[in-house]
Amino acid sequence: MDLKQNEIMYCTKCIISNQRPSSVVEFKNKSEDIKPKITFENGVCSACIWALEKEKINWETRRNELEELCDKFRSLDGSYDCIVPGSGGKDSAFASHFLKYELGMNPLTVTWAPHKYTEIGWKNFQSWIEIGGFDNILIHPSGKVHKKLTKLAFQNLGHPFQPFIIGQKLIGPRTSIMYDIPLVFYGENQAEYGNKIEDNHKPTMDLSFFSESNSDDLTIGGIPMKKLIEDYGINKSDLNMYNPIDYTLLKKTGTEVHYLSYYVKWDPQEMFYYAAENTGFRPNSERTQGSYSKYAGIDDILEWLHFYMIFIKFGIGRATYDASQEIRNNKITREEGVALVQKYDHEFPSKYLNDFLEYLNLDEKQFFETIDKFRSPEIWAYQENEWVLKTQVT
Ligand SMILES: [Zn+2]
Repeated sequence: MDLKQNEIMYCTKCIISNQRPSSVVEFKNKSEDIKPKITFENGVCSACIWALEKEKINWETRRNELEELCDKFRSLDGSYDCIVPGSGGKDSAFASHFLKYELGMNPLTVTWAPHKYTEIGWKNFQSWIEIGGFDNILIHPSGKVHKKLTKLAFQNLGHPFQPFIIGQKLIGPRTSIMYDIPLVFYGENQAEYGNKIEDNHKPTMDLSFFSESNSDDLTIGGIPMKKLIEDYGINKSDLNMYNPIDYTLLKKTGTEVHYLSYYVKWDPQEMFYYAAENTGFRPNSERTQGSYSKYAGIDDILEWLHFYMIFIKFGIGRATYDASQEIRNNKITREEGVALVQKYDHEFPSKYLNDFLEYLNLDEKQFFETIDKFRSPEIWAYQENEWVLKTQVT
């Protein structure tokens, strides 16, 4: 399709736009400059194409593959035999419970702490451990350093979640080495939502990039790690949790990081039902500001700002994400999705404004100036004293 660069178009099956960024490996050098976006074929986004391909997969065969994998690693002496990273949201609750009680594994759950747990997020975390019945290691990076990095990421990249995502992606392989447990399960492969389709055909995370990574060429919050140490008052020892992982140690441990979504047909609503039934997971009592949902991404207060910044930068808000996924999983129609987006997508998460300001140590003026700095001129117009989207899904 001959599209002009930056021309905005919407998937004809779901309602995602072609501006949607792929979830790139955030800690690879220069990832802020390279912004791969979701690809479209004949007006249909790759996430929708993948949703159709999923229907053709023989999930029984995949389940057998999973059992074979577990047989290979299952411990016979009661020791841990796999690591399940997660915050206690519906996905990690499902993954750990399924592995333990359906497949007889003995997972050690590991949590890369959210910036600030919501009340419901903390309750769900506790239920996961108490009702689900798991050993858990909660790893909290230095709050002082994490706040600093988050602020830089917000101000320089409009991406306050970047340091968190780096840590979250690293925590599985990192604890694999720390505890000498080679098998790691993440729940969902983010390729489900529009990275390269072929990535969905791989059960494992590619760890080979650690072989060439070192902290000299990595950036966090848009600042090279070396410069963070030289100019930002951060000590080298403060960055242990963000450093790339030693590839020789990964090889020595024999670490394999698998996505459960390769083996099990992933459907967020089904994961929610499963977690509610088995680990006491509860949805929020009120809908998520910026969307209509109540159970997705509700652990971390800063998640609201993360999604709002995606709306500012790419014109894609939280309702668009939720509705697109639900359209693909045949939970709602495209028309219903469009109506939900018009109603909620633009809503600012005012409930947590004071938390954002406090966490980022900014006043209201600085905060909103930063937000406006990231409004893309292709997406936004300033009319009659307010910002309006130039294009909207219909
Ligand atoms: Zn689509």
